[in-house]
Amino acid sequence: MVVTIVNQKGGVGKTTTSINLAASIALKGFKTLLIDLDPQGNSTLSFVERHEIDAHGANIFEALVGEKTLADVVMDSSVEHLKLAPATIALAKVESKLMGELDAHFRLKDALASLIHEYDYIVIDTPPTLGMLTVNALVASSHVLIPIQSSYFALEGTDDLLDTIEKVRARPNPDLQILGVVVTLHDKRTLLGKDVLAQISEVFGSKVFDTVITKSVRLEESPAYRESIFSYAPNSSGAMEYYKLSEEVLGRV
Ligand code: ATP
Ligand code: MG
Repeated sequence: MVVTIVNQKGGVGKTTTSINLAASIALKGFKTLLIDLDPQGNSTLSFVERHEIDAHGANIFEALVGEKTLADVVMDSSVEHLKLAPATIALAKVESKLMGELDAHFRLKDALASLIHEYDYIVIDTPPTLGMLTVNALVASSHVLIPIQSSYFALEGTDDLLDTIEKVRARPNPDLQILGVVVTLHDKRTLLGKDVLAQISEVFGSKVFDTVITKSVRLEESPAYRESIFSYAPNSSGAMEYYKLSEEVLGRV
C-alpha cells in the first residue's frame, strides 16, 4: 500500500500524521518507507538532522529529476523498520525543472517502481499545495488519507482537493482510493470542536476515522527531538491516538 497524506491547507497535521503513522506501522514490524515530498522537509527533520542528510548525499529531488535512483536516496531513520526518502529545500525547484516534460507527473511512480516490493507500507508527506509534487504523490499512490483540522474553516478548500483527486483518478491513476479522513488538532472541550466534528462527518460519512487526534503538546514537541511520539511520550494521548489510527488504517486496506 502506498498512502499519500494530503490537504493543500497548511498546518493541518499532514506531517504529524505522516511521521507518526509511518512510525506506528514500522513499530509493528512492517517494512515501511516514509517519502518526504515537501520542500519544507519537516518529515525529514523529524527523524534525522540536517548534517546527516548532507553526509548521506542524496535527496528526493535527485530521484525525481533522474540524477539518482530512489534506492540511492533512501536512508535509515531513527526508528527500526522505518526508512526515509529525505527532502531538502532543493525540492522547491522541481516544478520549474520538470515543466514541459511529458512524464512530469509520473516521476515518483516511476522512481518507486524498482523498490516498491521491498516495502509493506509506503507513506508520502506532501506540501500544502495541489501542484506538481502533490500530483506526483497521488499518481504514485494506492490510497489517500486526508487530515482535516478541527477548526471553523475546516472544510474550506475540500472541493478543490476532491476535484484534484478525481482528476488523477480519471486518467493517470484510476485505482486511487480515499482511505479516510482524520480529524486533527481537535479540542474536545469546546462546543465549536463538536460542531466541526459533526460537520466533517456529514460531508465524509463513514470515511471519517473513529480515531480523532486531539491537541497535544507532546505531539508538537517530539519532532524537535528526532523522535516519533511512541518513543518520545509513549503514554501520551497523542501516542494512543496515532496507534489507534494506525490500527484503523491497517484494518481498511
Ligand atoms: P504544512 O502544511 O506546513 O506542511 P502540516 O499540515 O504538515 O503543515 P503539521 O506540521 O503536522 O501540519 O502541524 C502544524 C503544527 O501543528 C506543527 O507545529 C505541529 O507540531 C502542530 N501539531 C500538529 N498536530 C498537532 C496536535 N495534534 N496537537 C498539537 N500540535 C499539533
Ligand atoms: Mg507538513
